[in-house]
Amino acid sequence: MSASEAVVHVAFLPSAGMGHLNPCLRLAALFLGNGCKVTLITPKPTVSIAESNLISSFCSSFPHQVTQVHFNLIPLDPTTVSTNIDPFYLQFQTIRHSVHLLPPILSSLSTPLSALIYNVSLISAVVSISDKLLCPTYIYFTSSARMLSFNAYVAVLADSDPAAQPHPSTFIGDAVRVPGFTSPIPRSSVPVAFLLEGSNSFQRMIMEDSRNLTKLDGVLINSFEELEGEALAALNEGKVVRGLPPVYGIGPLMACEFENVDEGQKGSMSWILEWLDEQAEGSVVYVSLGSRTETRREQIKDTALGLIECGYGFVWVVKLKRVDREEGEDLEDVLGSELMGKVREKGVVVKEYVDQMKILGHPAVGGFVSHGGWNSITEAVWEGVPILTWPQYGDQKMTSEAIKMSGVGIWAEEWGWGTQKVVEGTEIAKKIKQMMSDESLRVKAREMKDAARKACGVGGSCEVIIKRLIEEWKRNA
Ligand code: UDP
Ligand code: UDP
Repeated sequence: MSASEAVVHVAFLPSAGMGHLNPCLRLAALFLGNGCKVTLITPKPTVSIAESNLISSFCSSFPHQVTQVHFNLIPLDPTTVSTNIDPFYLQFQTIRHSVHLLPPILSSLSTPLSALIYNVSLISAVVSISDKLLCPTYIYFTSSARMLSFNAYVAVLADSDPAAQPHPSTFIGDAVRVPGFTSPIPRSSVPVAFLLEGSNSFQRMIMEDSRNLTKLDGVLINSFEELEGEALAALNEGKVVRGLPPVYGIGPLMACEFENVDEGQKGSMSWILEWLDEQAEGSVVYVSLGSRTETRREQIKDTALGLIECGYGFVWVVKLKRVDREEGEDLEDVLGSELMGKVREKGVVVKEYVDQMKILGHPAVGGFVSHGGWNSITEAVWEGVPILTWPQYGDQKMTSEAIKMSGVGIWAEEWGWGTQKVVEGTEIAKKIKQMMSDESLRVKAREMKDAARKACGVGGSCEVIIKRLIEEWKRNA
């Protein structure tokens, strides 16, 4: 068989949560669209219902090109796991702990693998078995290039500190000045768990992964030149860390057909869209803190009051539980019937998983209040919707910085992390008005939308990169 006829076979290994699964499957769809065969390795059991539904839908959409391989995880010893641990984070740890089971699974596949593309949360674990995998390995990074630069640079920082075993709270200092960056990352934007005194598994994971980044064959990231040109250049020019593998900006990853949830699961979607159809163009704010952030009870009332006061219509998605399997309570019981009545006079409130891309793509939507989850951000960019970020935890302040610098969004910096204080309704209304009335934001969002469409269009950066990788793998077959 000549190199051009070789079957390119790519295995994908996602991690827990929709924010990690969505980009994985969207990326897999790109390779499928370019004639590759795909194996999807699915860690079992799955944490949320939304994940199970999406995996089924993906596999049944490509019955001939996709093989699903179950990866049965070994549970962690319950006596070593804290009882209030985030179930998604626990799943990251469980996959890392079970990763030695992968080589036999992958070597038994009927077609040899051209490449393995796996989730960022598994770097060191997969690196530890990569000599047994017999194919190049890549990660798909689920956050911004700014966050990737931070993750890459922390090992350099730690090693440059004269203290024997410097702790992140020491070597981070007042800000992280990543080489090649115009604006430093302030200490206050660093994930809280990374700075905690003592040692925790999150710190260890970030540090270990930071040191292992140079062992990868490449990093695929959901970003693109116009959105994060400076960070992508710094990473690829060796300014952040020497010896880093290529960082491929394949974003923005687009929503795919298989994500269309069917009517049975869709719940409120049809009437949300009907309601949006009746609203004036650009007059509605979409409010969602992502797939796994439960809105704090003490914040719900003020958020409702802010939305009522802001003067715009709204679609508000409220998660009452982190994991959808546990959702049971009625929104009306939480908000109270009087407030619920007022909310419904002005907008729509739901707690179900919604088809976010359909909402963001509706002409009535003119702004997005988001926690700053990177998938949500790139989806808003794709649709040209201005953003107001309200970071809750983790990477979300860094993504807020990236958005602010790109000019497509504003960030309510004075609100701190979502868990720090209760933001009053009046303040929320004020910020929403600011976002909705800012003409320069709208212009910039439209420009970025055009750039996003170009990056994903025929001959755009995404296609060029995917084709180049496929050619490289064929040559090496
Ligand atoms: N999402 C959705 N409907 C919801 C909540 C989330 O479609 O009700 C999708 C959203 O479009 C995005 C992903 O789930 O693709 C969430 O990822 P993100 O990085 O924005 O945030 P996370 O949920 O990981 O905090
Ligand atoms: N985490 C946390 N506090 C933080 C940062 C992270 O508890 O300040 C935990 C959180 O539970 C999350 C995990 O560490 O699930 C990974 O964090 P990251 O921000 O990378 O998660 P992502 O949103 O990308 O899944």
